[in-house]
Amino acid sequence: MAAGTLLLARSRNARNLRLILSIPPGMDPSLPWADAEPALRNLGETARLSDKKLSVGILQEGVAVNGEPCEWHWLLENDTGPELVTESLERLPKKKDPKAIAGWMESCETDTDSLHGQVWLTPNRADFSGLVRRWRQWGFRRIILRDAALAADLPAEHLDLYVAGMRRNAEDYANDLLKGDLYLCEPFATWFRLIYAGEPSWRGDPAGTGRLAVNGQGTIYPDAEFMSGDALPLGQMGIGGGEATWDADRVSAFLDLGSMTMPSCLGCWARGLCGGGQALVHYRRSGSITRPDPSWCDARRRILEHVIAAFNTLSAAGIPFLDLHRALGRSKSGLSWRLLLRAVRGSVLAARPIRESDAPLLARWERWNPAAYFTFTDSGVLLATTHDRENDALHPKPWQMELALIRPGQDRPIGLLRLIPHRLPATVWAWLYLRDPAAYGHAGTRQGLRELIDTTLRDRAVRRILTPAGTFDDGLEACLLAVGFTRAGVLRESLYLHGRYHDVTVFSYTRPDSRSNFSG
Ligand code: SF4
Repeated sequence: MAAGTLLLARSRNARNLRLILSIPPGMDPSLPWADAEPALRNLGETARLSDKKLSVGILQEGVAVNGEPCEWHWLLENDTGPELVTESLERLPKKKDPKAIAGWMESCETDTDSLHGQVWLTPNRADFSGLVRRWRQWGFRRIILRDAALAADLPAEHLDLYVAGMRRNAEDYANDLLKGDLYLCEPFATWFRLIYAGEPSWRGDPAGTGRLAVNGQGTIYPDAEFMSGDALPLGQMGIGGGEATWDADRVSAFLDLGSMTMPSCLGCWARGLCGGGQALVHYRRSGSITRPDPSWCDARRRILEHVIAAFNTLSAAGIPFLDLHRALGRSKSGLSWRLLLRAVRGSVLAARPIRESDAPLLARWERWNPAAYFTFTDSGVLLATTHDRENDALHPKPWQMELALIRPGQDRPIGLLRLIPHRLPATVWAWLYLRDPAAYGHAGTRQGLRELIDTTLRDRAVRRILTPAGTFDDGLEACLLAVGFTRAGVLRESLYLHGRYHDVTVFSYTRPDSRSNFSG
């Protein structure tokens, strides 16, 4: 497969590679995929020998949806070779409307963490408000909004409508996150993460350097969007006896795309988020991939202002973007909390959500308490008030679950358990605190904890639990080892308390059938 060879040859020191096979609309995707499978397997093996990881996927345009202001493509991709995609394509629904495709992707992803689906939405009208939320409601968990082709051709007088469309979609996404509906929508998720992490992005578009596209005749383009109109071909693969060519001058122009290399970007306040814009947009609007059209830049800056405003509402709610972006990008959203609660009924230890009426007791527990549960967190300040704890109960954060541990038949908490998705796939952080240190050694409590762990891991989305224990957690370490945890490592001097730094030990529990995947 010529495109795969090109990918490996041009990948330089990149470790994670993606190869997407795009097939025409209406074609049965399993036929071209079956033809390509042996070559994809060989490419994967070659990549492995070069210490690279090749992810392979299939992309197809979906049937037009009446009244929708966009074209759409579905993509199914696997990190570990083509076989799982082949199996999934056998179950592809006959009816290929968005809901059926979303349901199919969901069922494919349930079986494994390496397989993931996306929907690409390409707006074809300036007014596309509500698009992201509608496709989310149809069941997609990863939505990629591809606005470049639209923005490339919009006349200046329609840019206001386009800005309003981007703004409303960003606001809808932020509001959905706030309500606890955690899904991935690009480019907003990446912009939120960059703002959250304070990381500038000096190059927003990988076209021509980090990405290439090849059509059926073997012509190489900087990106698939350049294919229509045969814009800026970079060379020929030399398929069928033709001459192989590579236009090094044209390719080198793409090296200059970016906000630190384009003169017009150097004084722009948005350069760290915009990254110099999109090559296709600049090319179609000004004739040069490195000369942005000022009217488009003005629209882009207004969009980014709205994205920052939407981020501010999220930031006030404390959403952990670094972890969420990883978790949502690769795997399902996490635990089935209801299952966890149901399963512990009848156990020697039970769990229930914290309540407003627990607030005075929890505030008393937290004040000046050096246990890792309260101090080894992003916001541990040792000074919780009853009001804070009432708020925690009344407005729980959607990405975390805090449970009160109780003895069956009693309502008064004896401890706390907090669960948060970790940035590693299929992994959660679990903080554990028992009010009475002697309870860590109690056989019934340990048995109850074992049952909680079993229930948590019974959900296929969770394969490993990580639990921190600090210097001040008397009895916790012995309890964790007794219920089957192992020491994963020590975070040296990671907790500053009482005037000095303390080590925190991280304990790990891995589902038995996943131990080889997580070793090391
Ligand atoms: S908005 Fe325009 S000037 Fe500003 S960084 Fe983006 S492309 Fe450059």
